[in-house]
Amino acid sequence: MPLPFIRRNVASMVGYVPGEQPQDRRYIKLNTNENPYPPSPRVLDAVRAATTADLRLYPDPLADALRDRAATVYGLQRDNILVGNGSDELLGLIVRACVGPGDRVVFPYPTYSLYDTLVAVQEGDVVHVPYPADFCLPEELRKVRGRLTFVCHPNSPSGTPAPLEALRALAREAAGVLVVDEAYVDFAEYTALPLLHEFQNVIVLRTFSKSFSLAGMRVGLAFGAPEMIKELLKLKDSYNVSRLSIAAATAALEDYGWMQENVARIRRTRSDLIRGLQERAFAVLPSASNFVLARRPGESQESRYLQLKRRGILVRYFPVPELRDALRITVGTDEEIGALLRALEDIAPATP
Ligand SMILES: *Cc1c(COP(=O)(O)O)cnc(C)c1O
Repeated sequence: MPLPFIRRNVASMVGYVPGEQPQDRRYIKLNTNENPYPPSPRVLDAVRAATTADLRLYPDPLADALRDRAATVYGLQRDNILVGNGSDELLGLIVRACVGPGDRVVFPYPTYSLYDTLVAVQEGDVVHVPYPADFCLPEELRKVRGRLTFVCHPNSPSGTPAPLEALRALAREAAGVLVVDEAYVDFAEYTALPLLHEFQNVIVLRTFSKSFSLAGMRVGLAFGAPEMIKELLKLKDSYNVSRLSIAAATAALEDYGWMQENVARIRRTRSDLIRGLQERAFAVLPSASNFVLARRPGESQESRYLQLKRRGILVRYFPVPELRDALRITVGTDEEIGALLRALEDIAPATP
């Protein structure tokens, strides 16, 4: 029986299911797209330096030190930038600001499933426009007039980029706000940031969780028109980002080269991973991110996922009809990917 005082849409929701974060043993962890390399030593120094008695004081509500650094790095102004407790918080703020009961939200599917959860909380109506098999951005996306359109670029779980021209057309024709979730863009060839200078209705989201190796610190950035940022600011917790997180993210931007070196390393390993998977009869789409989607069309990968887990290797299996024949595999170190590829050789093909 649902509790009588819980809203019906909440009671009937499943809730977002994050990738496993097991605490029982150490895995080769290739399931939630964390960076296998540590954050910059300058980040660790900055966190230590911020670990003082001043932790008794609240943090700067706007995180202006980080906003100013990000403005310089990304060629924007401070008032184009909102700092969030991870970009997940920023997604939540955007949905709360734009979506009420019955309002339409559109995005290609399959993609980051948190979008569904956030819209369900607001009692909005989700329109999934199916991606074709090659995960090109579907044309029909432009015909559905939503208050909000999400495009994850590059997309998760496919790893595929969205062409900039297609995003530009979408921004031009969208009835409402276009949110480009660039959680993985540092691993890609290009960003949608130029659209911010052309359109008032575009928001670009970034995170420190993937390329900057700071998933544990929970920091994300939203870039948008000052008028938009001002509305989102009204909805956020006053002290949404901790002192240590602000210090860490600011230092990470000050050592941008560290991130770029790790990205270059991951991209090299990504090529080896794709080749290794193809040699083992998996279909793999070209990836512009730090993970790949490996498929055996028509063959459920659940048992392979479970057998890998038993061997201490965690990958992501999504129990939805569109993705049952796929595993999403994070690009780890060369050693980790070597271990994965060896384990895949040992695992017998599933009997149909
Ligand atoms: C990881 C991820 C995020 C959110 O990351 P945070 O850790 O909350 O900053 C957002 N969107 C996508 C598609 C992601 O994969």
